[in-house]
Amino acid sequence: MNERERIISQHIEGEDNILGIGVGSLEESASEAGGPAHILIVDDDDRMRESVRDLLSIHGHRCELAAGARQALDLLEDHSFDLVLLDIKMPGMNGLDLLKELAGKYPDISVIMVSGETSFENMTKVMRLGAADFLRKPYSPADLLYSIDSVLRKRRLQQVVRAMNARLAISEQRHRFIIENSPDIIYMLDATGHFTFINERISQVLGYRPDEMIGRHFLELLPLEDQERIGHAFNERRTGKRATQNLEMRLVHKRSRLLGPGQVNTVPVELNAMGVYEEAEGDQRGRFMGTYGVIRDISARKRSEAVINYQLYHDLLTGLPNRALFQDRLNQAISRARRDKSGFALMFLDMDRFKSINDSYGHLVGDALLQAVANMMRGHVRDTDTLARLSGDEFVLLLPEVACVDDAVGVAQKILDHLREPVDIEGHELYVSFSIGIAVYPEHGTTSEELVRHADTAMYHVKKRSRRGYAVYKPSMDAGQNGHPALESELRHALQDGCLEVMLQPQQYAATGRLAGAEALVRWHHPEKGVILPCEFIPFAEESGLIIELGEWVLRETCRLISERIRGGECENLVISVNVSARQVLQPDFAERVLEILDAYQVPGSRLEIEITENMLMQDLELATRQLKTLSRAGIRIAMDDFGTGYSSLSYLQTLPLDTLKIDRSFIAEIQSLNERHSIVTGMIAMARELGLDVVAEGVENEVQREFLKRAACPRIQGFLLGKAMPAGELLAAYGH
Ligand code: C2E
Ligand code: MG
Ligand code: MG
Repeated sequence: MNERERIISQHIEGEDNILGIGVGSLEESASEAGGPAHILIVDDDDRMRESVRDLLSIHGHRCELAAGARQALDLLEDHSFDLVLLDIKMPGMNGLDLLKELAGKYPDISVIMVSGETSFENMTKVMRLGAADFLRKPYSPADLLYSIDSVLRKRRLQQVVRAMNARLAISEQRHRFIIENSPDIIYMLDATGHFTFINERISQVLGYRPDEMIGRHFLELLPLEDQERIGHAFNERRTGKRATQNLEMRLVHKRSRLLGPGQVNTVPVELNAMGVYEEAEGDQRGRFMGTYGVIRDISARKRSEAVINYQLYHDLLTGLPNRALFQDRLNQAISRARRDKSGFALMFLDMDRFKSINDSYGHLVGDALLQAVANMMRGHVRDTDTLARLSGDEFVLLLPEVACVDDAVGVAQKILDHLREPVDIEGHELYVSFSIGIAVYPEHGTTSEELVRHADTAMYHVKKRSRRGYAVYKPSMDAGQNGHPALESELRHALQDGCLEVMLQPQQYAATGRLAGAEALVRWHHPEKGVILPCEFIPFAEESGLIIELGEWVLRETCRLISERIRGGECENLVISVNVSARQVLQPDFAERVLEILDAYQVPGSRLEIEITENMLMQDLELATRQLKTLSRAGIRIAMDDFGTGYSSLSYLQTLPLDTLKIDRSFIAEIQSLNERHSIVTGMIAMARELGLDVVAEGVENEVQREFLKRAACPRIQGFLLGKAMPAGELLAAYGH
């Protein structure tokens, strides 16, 4: 029995209407089969016609009479009939000819043939021509009524079947439309992993026609190296929550066949799949039938991630790697050299007198010069070297394969030689020169900070003496540069004497302008120098280790503010962010200390956000992650500060228990008009949304930036436009709390 027959027989036998599309009325009309009908009686015998009419009228039927075929055809033109009672033997056009005509012209009308002739041949001829029944004269009224009743019943059933078929066709068409027009690939596999169905979408995504996939094994779509690892997800047997959900993988495009052996062209996709089982009794699971799956093409998303990645790791003016990427490559070089017991060189290159060129010829010439110089230098380094632009006119060159001082000096010399000729920028002949500082691993340092600082020191050494030229780092160059014993004891006293203050800078919801929270920023009230900002003493506190004590004080002070000033009422939901330094987070008891402080001031974790910066995480990612997870479990939010300036690896963003990204103010400063379409800020906000992270845009200084961020659906904003850091009381008063 096919699907259609099953549905009809179910319907007739009065089972559930599985289509659920209102067949109820049809069902009723089918069962009251003997109900009134409109009947045409065609007979040349007047008495016969009338007596049949009288009989049928008594049983509720409406009848019209025709003495011959012609009259019958006229009546058929003007009325609609359910049934024709037709005598075979009539003068002129006989019943059989009329029957033929009726079958062609009025296929919906049922015909009962009546005849005195009883030959079997006649009967079969009549039935073959489409008559619904055959009555032999003379017949009893009961015979006639029975025949009419059963023909009408059959007729109504046929109507039901036709309506059901039409509905099935529509429903089938609708499902087919949905499946064929789905933006995703939809497939079914049999129990052995061969395709039994796949929709049209495959041809756009992977280049195959659906019919060429049927019968093929799914492994043909997976690159060889992925087959073992993720093959099982494709022919998933599990159902429910344990089935495959949003698994990222690559599938092989058909055009790979045109490439050489071993080369494949893949498309990144996301897969959802689940097992399909035969229906079975009770709780028992039936036989495994195969897999049903949906595949989404995510190449567009991957492309935009790649663009964001590129922008995050490259200087857009010169196309060179930026500080973040350089930092990452430097860390890699250190690990490799440590492992291989080898060395490498690092060079700081600072263009001499760039500022005066910029001032005399303007920014456009300055930019063009930087590009020209970057191109020139790029031409003289190897693919394995990293040439990065750190800022303005400051470049850095990492040479992983140059292991000794002499070779490094050779490279520096070569660069200086190539720059002897003037560079032509828009008709101006510009002479450029560089001061180059060199540090070599491991002689001049074993950590990235040390190497960078020493290459920088050597570079300054050149600048101070002569400009143009190079110098290799020597410890004697440090004299007088390091160590601030006086400052250290002053800061220590400031901590003890209460000369530090925690101020709060407001954060607003971009959409409504309501107060969303605040960031705690420390200030030093110096008895002689006045207010000292953190950028002047935090780096030094970090170096001397005092940051641990200072950081803990800030945290304590912030919790005190929350518990004494900003609790209850409208302030109930205000979250206060506190900056913590790498040195703090990497203290083994950091998480414990934070929780103790919260407890001491009875401040719930949800009121506090901890701001971390990316670079610090590199030092001991595992320990940092562990500490932050403990805090996160206590409800404390974790924010990534100055996002975009460090090594913003997307995979970190997923492994760390992050809640918020704070987009660094240098990106916000670049927003100058509302119609910048491809702003990197928009990309960052979209990416954060994808990762389920909240966003704070830092350094909002004007209305254009605020409006841009509002339109870009940035959740929170912070910056001088809303207010500088201020005492807690002032902040609450400003927002009417
Ligand atoms: P941050 O965490 O990125 O803090 C934001 C800094 O940007 C603050 O500078 C703030 O005053 C400034 N700022 C806010 N809005 C604007 C604006 O619209 N335009 C501009 N140009 N600047 C804006 P501040 O207070 O000088 O702090 C500098 C950095 O010092 C902070 O950067 C943070 O990294 C660090 N810091 C501050 N307090 C602490 C602390 O208690 N502990 C630690 N470890 N670091 C701190
Ligand atoms: Mg901060
Ligand atoms: Mg920041």
